Amino acid sequence: MEVLEIDIPFEYRFKCWFCGEDSHTYIEVNHSEINGGLSLISIPTCDECQSYGCHLSVITLDELRPLIKDKIIIRSSKELSIGANWTEKELTESDFTGNAFEGFKRSGWEMFLIAKERVNFKAWDLCIDGIPISEVVNEEIFEFDGLTFSNFNSMLDYLSKTFFLDKPFLKRVLTLYGNDRTIEAVKFCRLVPHETETEREIAFEDLVESFREKDALALNNKILDKLVLYVDIDSIVPVQLKNNTIPALSIQWAMQNGVINFETLDRLEDNFFDTFSSEGDEKAFQLFNALEIYLDKRLSSLSWRKNQDPNFALWEYVESQCKLIRTRGNK
Ligand SMILES: [Zn+2]
Repeated sequence: MEVLEIDIPFEYRFKCWFCGEDSHTYIEVNHSEINGGLSLISIPTCDECQSYGCHLSVITLDELRPLIKDKIIIRSSKELSIGANWTEKELTESDFTGNAFEGFKRSGWEMFLIAKERVNFKAWDLCIDGIPISEVVNEEIFEFDGLTFSNFNSMLDYLSKTFFLDKPFLKRVLTLYGNDRTIEAVKFCRLVPHETETEREIAFEDLVESFREKDALALNNKILDKLVLYVDIDSIVPVQLKNNTIPALSIQWAMQNGVINFETLDRLEDNFFDTFSSEGDEKAFQLFNALEIYLDKRLSSLSWRKNQDPNFALWEYVESQCKLIRTRGNK
């Protein structure tokens, strides 16, 4: 069978197609998309990627690439773990002594960067005589802290080894966090004791519970955000607090949106400024500030709220509506 040579863009001359290191050799591998059948193509490779021997056991290039990437991760796990456990600054400022440590301090970070570049290197698209034969498709990429993995399992392997985590435990925790929050999942696993089966169960159950609480809170907020009460502005009395007048307009907004605490006010701050943007920035800010003062007074003094707030009855109504909607949301 004729061996076809792939085009090599100028900036990639003498580069390994798999990892971007200097290439000294070629491997020959089948490619299925040329001339409607299998053809042998020759791919520039570095000595190391070739030494893994993966090309001897696979049929096509599509299978080969992820295998080599995984091998790079496994073989460079020591170098990669430098970046996972240190920052460049920490490493150069560390007080290692002795020859071996001096060397580590000097070249450790560089070794990490080289390994990381090899893992993340993106191969160029395959062309023969200027005709594309296939694009390099990364079906799904898993990421952790700037490193990309071609499959979930190789990421799990890397993480559990680098951070000394129980792999099945990490896997379970990741299913809760989701693949886009890997860093948080790893942080969680590093923080909780999970040496024994019992510890792992407890930690996992606690995590499930905290996710459940967050979900419930988010749901509540969603329901509350949709709360639309109608409070007639004429029934609201502006409130005088020391030198501040709290205008009926901002009180009405607070009541209609169920703003009965600072948590809700914080959440709806953007909504407030959207509503009052036509008043101009300064005026809107004054209105907001007045509302904060009012809310603070209401929340800090129960007796003032009961005896001196002229809008006491209206607030009672708002609070009862909020409570009602919350209990409905929990069902
Ligand atoms: Zn290579």
